[in-house]
Amino acid sequence: MVYLDNNATTPLDPRVVEVMTRFLRDHFGNPSSLYPLGRECRDMLTDAREVVAGALGAHRSEVVFTASGTEADNFAVFGVLEAHPEKDEFITSAIEHPAILESAKFLERKGFKVTYLPVDETGIVSVEALRDALTGRTALVSVMHANNEIGTVQPVEEIVRIAHAKGVPVHTDAVQTFGKIEVDTRKLGVDLLSVSAHKVYGPKGIGALFVRKGTDIVPFIHGGHQEKGLRAGTENTAGIIGFAEAVRILGERAKKDKPRLEALGEKLRRGIEERVPRVKFNGHAEKRVKTTVNFAFPGLEAEAILLALATKEIYVSTGSACSSESEEVSPVLTAIGLRPEIARSAVRFSIGRTNTDEDIDQVLGELPPIVEKFRQISAYDPNA
Ligand code: PLP
Repeated sequence: MVYLDNNATTPLDPRVVEVMTRFLRDHFGNPSSLYPLGRECRDMLTDAREVVAGALGAHRSEVVFTASGTEADNFAVFGVLEAHPEKDEFITSAIEHPAILESAKFLERKGFKVTYLPVDETGIVSVEALRDALTGRTALVSVMHANNEIGTVQPVEEIVRIAHAKGVPVHTDAVQTFGKIEVDTRKLGVDLLSVSAHKVYGPKGIGALFVRKGTDIVPFIHGGHQEKGLRAGTENTAGIIGFAEAVRILGERAKKDKPRLEALGEKLRRGIEERVPRVKFNGHAEKRVKTTVNFAFPGLEAEAILLALATKEIYVSTGSACSSESEEVSPVLTAIGLRPEIARSAVRFSIGRTNTDEDIDQVLGELPPIVEKFRQISAYDPNA
């Protein structure tokens, strides 16, 4: 199998499985309990929080564990807006993950003014549009660190400078950058930042929101006093332990993995450009998470390519995993200016730790004849 859908999810690292299995077997205590069974779990959560915080350049008191990256995004948006009842404007970008885009649409239905910052043809957000959109009524700016479909990395530091000059806090969704490029909350300067464990070889159903000390935010889930009263509900203890182990392994492997995986991404990108005629690369050539490679294959339906590759046990994606079952054209590809029929031909290849040179060779061997065959069947006319 050649798994090239690592932006959708990643396989659990075997050491994460081991740590979680041991934890599930030996530590059933409730971390809120005062006796030793609970206290030992609480101590383990504290250690885990320290690991995740450390990787983000944060203090452990600034990390709130959530049930997913999606929940972290929702908490950031609704938690900050709720804390500023006098403000009714929200600024985001046109290419956010549905976790933010759908939250924005919900806010619009509630009467909020939402600005969707446009992006250029490489997917970079317009900071000029941000300057124009900020007002005294803006409660929050949320712009993702890198896009899940095309990998474009946003100028988050600049966005933060512009928004902070107007006293507006900034959230960034770093789900697709954490573990791939540097994610340092101090350098980025953001007030809130979301991550998710299953994108970094950890378990599904666990994420975290970094909340900078002093940020005004109110709970999004109400109940007990877990997570310092910011996120009620008995903690997903095994998930948190697994998340921390995955993050620890990231730190261990980062130096070796990053150049190797980026080289595989570049090999795939160049290989497709050289071997498949009339493709369109989507994203920014440089300001990109290089393990995300997105190409449109004009004249074809991406789904046909995906299924043909799947018969060769090569697994890729036609867009973000969350929207792959809907008929809708990707808002990301529309926002970078692709016509609907071109957007529908776009395939995302996302590289991860398990991939090798041979995997890329296999794709570069199988893909060109598949594209060629489908173009013949569909009587594709490149001049039409
Ligand atoms: N944000 C981005 C950019 C993502 O790519 C994803 C997952 O696809 C999410 C948020 C949602 O994370 P989770 O699957 O943990 O809810």
